[in-house]
Amino acid sequence: MINLKPDYFVNDIYDIDFTVLKNHRINSMLLDLDNTLVPFKINKPDNKVIEWINKAKKEGFKICVVSNAYPRRAQIIANLLELPVIYMAKKPFKKGVVDSLKILDSTNKEAILVGDQIFTDILAAKLAGVKCILVEPITKSDFFMTKIYRVFEFFVKRHLIKEKMK
Ligand SMILES: [Mg+2]
Repeated sequence: MINLKPDYFVNDIYDIDFTVLKNHRINSMLLDLDNTLVPFKINKPDNKVIEWINKAKKEGFKICVVSNAYPRRAQIIANLLELPVIYMAKKPFKKGVVDSLKILDSTNKEAILVGDQIFTDILAAKLAGVKCILVEPITKSDFFMTKIYRVFEFFVKRHLIKEKMK
């Protein structure tokens, strides 16, 4: 059985420690969109997210958005963040993750996936052999199917403890 425990569990993307990632030889970030970078249904990333992405780029990270969202919405946001995107990624299947590694010309060992859902993001990362960071969802508002996953997620997450990245 696949271990669904993320490598790191933090509050939000701003708690991600770039130095720790570099120490682990990670140079690529695969970012979920909904409720990780922007609230569900919001089509515009706020300035804080844009600044964080720019900082990560400056630090030398290669970044790709990997989202199950529909093309239009995913593309609009990715364009505003000036990032490549795999939309309709069909996480938890690993194909979208593998495709995003190809876009970045990265291997699974030098990448980390960041997402808010255990049964899509974390599972897809595990299947692709990519390390992963679980963040708390930005809002409680979710896609219908996600609401169902959240029930099961509760049982997995209650064993997880947030701690500083090291
Ligand atoms: Mg999400």
